Amino acid sequence: MFGWNGKLLRVNLFKKRASAEQYGASLAKHFMGGRGFAVKILWDDLKPGINPLYPENKLVFATGPLTGFALPSSGKMVVAAKSPLTGGYGDGNIGTRAAVQMRKAGYDAVIVEGKASKPIVLLIRDQNADILDATDLWGLNSFETEKKLKETYGSAAGILIIGPAGENLVKFANIVSQEGRAGGRPGIGAVMGSKNLKAVVFIGSSELSAAYPKEMKELGAEAYREVLTKPAYAFWKRQGTMMTIEWSQENSVLPTFNYREGVFDKAEAIGGFSMEKFKVSNRGCPQCNMTCGNVVKGSDRKESELDYENVAMLGSNIGLGNLKQVAALNRVADELGLDTISLGNVLGFAMEASEKGLIKEKIRWGKFKDTKALVEDIAYRRGLGDMLAEGVRYFSEKVGGNSRRWAMHVKGLEISAYNCHSTPAMALAFATSSIGAHHKDAWVISWEVQFGRESYTEAKVDKIIEFQRIRGGVFESLTVCRLPWIELGFELEWYTRFLHAATGLEMTWNDLNIIADRIFNLTRAFWVREYGKDWGKEMDVPPGRWFEEPLTKGPLKGAKLDKTKYEVMLQRYYHKRGWDERGIPTKTTLKKLGLEDAVKQLQKRVKLYE
Ligand code: SF4
Repeated sequence: MFGWNGKLLRVNLFKKRASAEQYGASLAKHFMGGRGFAVKILWDDLKPGINPLYPENKLVFATGPLTGFALPSSGKMVVAAKSPLTGGYGDGNIGTRAAVQMRKAGYDAVIVEGKASKPIVLLIRDQNADILDATDLWGLNSFETEKKLKETYGSAAGILIIGPAGENLVKFANIVSQEGRAGGRPGIGAVMGSKNLKAVVFIGSSELSAAYPKEMKELGAEAYREVLTKPAYAFWKRQGTMMTIEWSQENSVLPTFNYREGVFDKAEAIGGFSMEKFKVSNRGCPQCNMTCGNVVKGSDRKESELDYENVAMLGSNIGLGNLKQVAALNRVADELGLDTISLGNVLGFAMEASEKGLIKEKIRWGKFKDTKALVEDIAYRRGLGDMLAEGVRYFSEKVGGNSRRWAMHVKGLEISAYNCHSTPAMALAFATSSIGAHHKDAWVISWEVQFGRESYTEAKVDKIIEFQRIRGGVFESLTVCRLPWIELGFELEWYTRFLHAATGLEMTWNDLNIIADRIFNLTRAFWVREYGKDWGKEMDVPPGRWFEEPLTKGPLKGAKLDKTKYEVMLQRYYHKRGWDERGIPTKTTLKKLGLEDAVKQLQKRVKLYE
């Protein structure tokens, strides 16, 4: 096999043993890599119903056949496990040297099983895997930990770390790398913490082997040049995703005061142009020549890497209109290893609960010092922070009242930074995403605003499925960044050419979409296997706020979603996906994709229709 290494590394922390496993071409061709490998491994290896924070859960680090080659934005890896936040399939991607180094060490994926008896670092250096004592690192924040590990292993090493939030099993703890690049929103950092795994260090020295090395080299060079020619490139380098703050404000989709509103009166102060005034540099993932991390110095004078999601969630959504303070909160979150999207959501919910008198603590909108203290309490599970550390769904169940309506999550995962009072397709995309309400799979909102936001048409359903295939399926499995394509218009045809040069396979986008559908359906099967009879179409419906509480400000004042039309659109989506009216794949759909084992297993949990 070219392109793929053809090897997985399985590390058992109980037995302190690591073994390399060859895998066959069938896994590669049917599941590609990255998310595809992760969901297949978790489906095969995990018993349904396990506690995600028990040793039985497995942690998967997975790359794809393009990871690490000299191609635009190919330095990504997927981190996955059964999610402690949602109880379903959970993953995230990180742009990190760890992805490249893991491939150069000879592995396409690493599976971590069991639990170490004390804090450890897993060192994977080419063919050797060592489990090393990390007692001295436990308790350090992610930046301090990385610094120490770099002193020992050099700055070229690929390092994945958890902060105190992961150690303390905060349900939305993530994994951090390279001082602020982070991933694993649905608590993958907590799974790492539950295994006493403080960090993983990858050092690889082999060269990746492509089917057509000369073609690969030339194609890569051509592709990098092509990225630079895109008209949007120059502005992208200035602002990256930060330009979206102004766009969201103009279009009334900026999450504000716990998604109550879509406009924020201090949007300009936290927008891309304000950020440019104190930007220090660009930071980014390996292999990328359109690096989009905007490094600024926050009010604490420390560097912080800003993007749209962390600024919207730690800014407008909690009523904070001072960008330097937002940057400081973001830095604290990265140090502690907390996902900033869920964090901003949880904080916004707590502020609203306080305002409505559902909790006794006084937590006010936009108060930086108090908020920072609360963020630390969450990471260390102190006082109210202990309850918030469980995520919005849990917290809402505890505080009661009508808070379920404004607990802004789907399937337990807090919603990313778009308010959907007036964008039904984006609401449906959030609701049907593979991991809960995340924007990664189908970011259709920009298209929808241009296309016509009021309608609930079939074209919108088609667009969601198209994007879920490209973004959530193909890019997450190759494993490459989606931003060259979606932000600069870097054409999709490049990726089939890359794949051919790497693997020798002649695949069309149609072939890739079938793989994407296989991955998507197995992911859905994973959720249904976990939830069993509790699964129903309400799992694919966003919170009541968007249907019942119209916007009270801005040009779209009065806008809200129509529940009846949404449900019609949802059923149309199910039909096109080959799912029944509960959102469960039919036997025919699963068999068509070669997922016979899913038929066998799901039948034990729910009734499956033909
Ligand atoms: S565009 Fe941004 S997220 Fe994508 S690979 Fe480059 S730096 Fe990473």
